[in-house]
Amino acid sequence: MQIPASFDYVRAADVDNAIALLERHGPEARVIAGGHSLLPMMKLRLARPEWVIDINDLTELDFLVREGDVLRIGAMTRHTALLESAEVARLFPIVTDAERVIADPVVRNRGTIGGSLCQADPAEDLSTVCNVLAAQVIIRGAGGERVLSMPEFHQGPYETAVAQTELLCEIRFPVRPRSGSAYEKVERRVGDWAVAAAGAAVSLAENGTISHASVGLTAVGLEGTVSEAADILAGQQPSEELFAEAGRAAAAACDPMADQRGPVDYKRHLADELTRRVLRRACSRAAKTQEG
Ligand SMILES: Cc1cc2nc3c(=O)[nH]c(=O)nc-3n(C[C@H](O)[C@H](O)[C@H](O)COP(=O)(O)OP(=O)(O)OC[C@H]3O[C@@H](n4cnc5c(N)ncnc54)[C@H](O)[C@@H]3O)c2cc1C
Repeated sequence: MQIPASFDYVRAADVDNAIALLERHGPEARVIAGGHSLLPMMKLRLARPEWVIDINDLTELDFLVREGDVLRIGAMTRHTALLESAEVARLFPIVTDAERVIADPVVRNRGTIGGSLCQADPAEDLSTVCNVLAAQVIIRGAGGERVLSMPEFHQGPYETAVAQTELLCEIRFPVRPRSGSAYEKVERRVGDWAVAAAGAAVSLAENGTISHASVGLTAVGLEGTVSEAADILAGQQPSEELFAEAGRAAAAACDPMADQRGPVDYKRHLADELTRRVLRRACSRAAKTQEG
């Protein structure tokens, strides 16, 4: 049986207290949210924090609220809450699509959006979703609050801009009129991490052309969004030929690695095919909504 190295444990009472505890216990302290990434790493001794600061009492970070043209999501919002939210499904179906294929109910009941983004696993699904939706993230430390874009936040595999004494507190999605989004993933078995996945968000102009498009890929060595695909889509009428062109651009832009989940060619093929599918669904959803 795998057992973590010994550590001390403390429950933070609120955000300020969590930040104070991080400062007091220094670089050997880590916060724990759902624990579904941190605990396995501790058991494998890939992480050996001396202090574990539990942030599960921070109910102030567990919220989903629409404010004008923004959906605000607290970092402690569980996967299940995102999956079950009717408002999220209506405004950002890409989130619901992704949550359906993240792990299993046990993981989704505890795992949080904040923990997922901070873990920054290259095969993690919500980072792609947040990139595609041009999310902003709100980080707090003793010095105050920072608002970052996803490219500023995500600095590479397992690396983010959150400093050791800071907490990710909130994620904000901009609501766009006449928009639709979708996410699709290929996994070896239900609940597994992605072999490859793609997400897309589009907005349509009054005349039905694509006024804004964003495409992202998961687990194929591409961070951020596929600007080549967005350029192809902008200003065009949605069509199968257009989706195919964007799919080819996404496949060319990614840089997958061969591993136990499949060879490079297979993953590139998935990047192409999944991009076409999510664009088709995102455009069809956008055409059906007048949401502003
Ligand atoms: C069997 C299994 C299958 C999975 N499959 C998938 C999958 O298919 N797709 C997918 O995307 N994910 C998958 N996951 C990961 C799952 O989504 C986790 O919930 C998620 O990665 C981490 O969230 P957490 O709340 O459990 O974070 P934790 O494990 O508690 O924390 C993860 C890291 O983030 C830090 N952290 C957490 N919250 C904050 C915060 N607010 N501010 C600053 N730092 C913070 C912690 O210190 C730690 O370093 C899987 C996990 C398991 C166990």
